[in-house]
Amino acid sequence: MKLSLRSLLYDLVFNEDCPICSRNSHFRYSPFCETCWRKIESFSSHRIYSGKFHSEFWKYVDSLSSFGAYEGILKEAIHYFKYVGIKRFGKELGKLFISIKPPEVDLLIPVPLHISKLRKRGFNQSATLAKEYADTWRIPLSLTSLIKVRDTKDQASLEAKERWINVRDAYLAKNLKKGIKVGLVDDVVTTGATIMECAKALKKAGVREIHAITLARTI
Ligand SMILES: [Zn+2]
Repeated sequence: MKLSLRSLLYDLVFNEDCPICSRNSHFRYSPFCETCWRKIESFSSHRIYSGKFHSEFWKYVDSLSSFGAYEGILKEAIHYFKYVGIKRFGKELGKLFISIKPPEVDLLIPVPLHISKLRKRGFNQSATLAKEYADTWRIPLSLTSLIKVRDTKDQASLEAKERWINVRDAYLAKNLKKGIKVGLVDDVVTTGATIMECAKALKKAGVREIHAITLARTI
């Protein structure tokens, strides 16, 4: 291998220890090492039509497709992306996300953040994934049809029961064509409370079908 000035500089700038195993990561998978990154497993079948969520969840959601289980390295990676704010993860997680075969939809809509949360975080992780998905699968994307009208506590900090109350009526859908099918994108689904509230708002606005697409799902 040729030892070029470029590779030396690359090593200087991009070398870091993998936060999972402490081996050198070379930032190939920002900043996880290849060994750890390859441990991320995909579900053998991405789409489900039933599952233990709120009794009304499947009344609003027609299907749920997820790449893999919300645990292990995938959970860590999402955490680094979302809360530590390492945006390069967006690209790598996006590559996993686009491997989900799209349901038949007319429009993609990411789960929105409240404006105050968006300002604080600087980016909406669901919108990052949705953009990647829209580009790859050539599906129209809307970042304005669904908004979060009420700021809520971070769902991750709450018990399952509190989560349903926390996000109730927090979303509003507008300016949508009646009768369309929407792909609703989020990074993670755990209790399903957020997805259900968004789906409820979308159906109220005349959307016919909601197909949720998430990177990870709690099993
Ligand atoms: Zn590692």
